[in-house]
Amino acid sequence: MSTAVFLEHHDGKLEKGSLGVLGKAASLGGDVAGVILGSGVKELAAEAGRYGATKVYVADTAELEAPLPQPRVDALAQLVRDQGIENVLFAASVLASDVAAGLAARLDAGLNWDLVDLVSQDGALVGKRPALEDSVYVDVGWSSEPRLALFRPGTFDPVESGGEAEDEELTPAFEDFSTAATMVEQAHEESEGPSIEDADVIVAGGRGLGGPENFSLVESLAKALGGAVGATRAVVDAGWYPYSTQVGQTGKTVSPKLYVACGISGAIQHKVGMQGAGTVVAINKDPNAPIFEFSDLGVVGDLHEIVPKLTELVEQRKA
Ligand SMILES: Cc1cc2nc3c(=O)[nH]c(=O)nc-3n(C[C@H](O)[C@H](O)[C@H](O)COP(=O)(O)OP(=O)(O)OC[C@H]3O[C@@H](n4cnc5c(N)ncnc54)[C@H](O)[C@@H]3O)c2cc1C
Repeated sequence: MSTAVFLEHHDGKLEKGSLGVLGKAASLGGDVAGVILGSGVKELAAEAGRYGATKVYVADTAELEAPLPQPRVDALAQLVRDQGIENVLFAASVLASDVAAGLAARLDAGLNWDLVDLVSQDGALVGKRPALEDSVYVDVGWSSEPRLALFRPGTFDPVESGGEAEDEELTPAFEDFSTAATMVEQAHEESEGPSIEDADVIVAGGRGLGGPENFSLVESLAKALGGAVGATRAVVDAGWYPYSTQVGQTGKTVSPKLYVACGISGAIQHKVGMQGAGTVVAINKDPNAPIFEFSDLGVVGDLHEIVPKLTELVEQRKA
């Protein structure tokens, strides 16, 4: 079996989500290659080797500098055809989703998306995909090759195997239509501290905060704990906090060591995004809130009183 994993990168580092998918591919056996497409990216190949790739294909060229999908579709389509790659796996992101969809169209291949696992069953690859608002998992398969799969963000943690990969340079030929689009401007959201995908501690706020101004309570506790801030869809939809912090079915899947839920009811769509957390602490004034059913520690009370005291306590202990 030959599998290629699209390795996304940012600021000179391979994305954690892509490395997690690489580790998953390596655990299934066969030839596992990482694919790094960009400009000035050659030195990233060694990192891919340490996380499970036995081979790394690198296309390092100016046409791949901007994070645009079609030139990447060109490079991947040629690689799949030339090397007879059977599976192409992606960790979902805006770019990866565009590339996967473009590749599926270009190769007339089947793409299964939103997967949370991939297993080998009776010699066939089977994807696991949540359905019916994440209350059940369905098995999905492919009826032809190549098989394309997009995994839900944050599904797998990277596993450092310490291996070394053989590099091979790609020189893709680009279609005229692929290079017709140019990136006019790119803006990065300013943020302090770790991102919610990487944080060991997440302090998340929900509608119980009462208003966007009270997110400062959550931010202060997160800062004291050296963590990141998360949010529920209810508050993101209300415009209280940015979508990039949304945890859950239609947001991110996170697996910190500690998850502190403040004023969050614990809806199933939120739970599926944070159930991989090591320890869950919930602060909620309703003793019957569903969040207490999957919390390790629960505090029944008003978060406006409890959260500032907790922050003070953490700061005192740190001092
Ligand atoms: C298709 C679909 C996808 C979805 N995707 C997501 C997703 O990705 N992420 C997500 O989070 N949701 C998602 N949702 C929405 C989800 O169903 C819930 O509506 C949402 O999670 C509720 O957010 P919440 O807990 O902030 O608000 P609420 O459910 O309103 O809960 C607020 C909680 O705060 C408590 N509270 C109020 N005041 C205080 C106080 N002073 N002190 C302490 N506690 C207090 C209340 O007791 C309550 O339990 C999705 C829904 C659908 C249908």
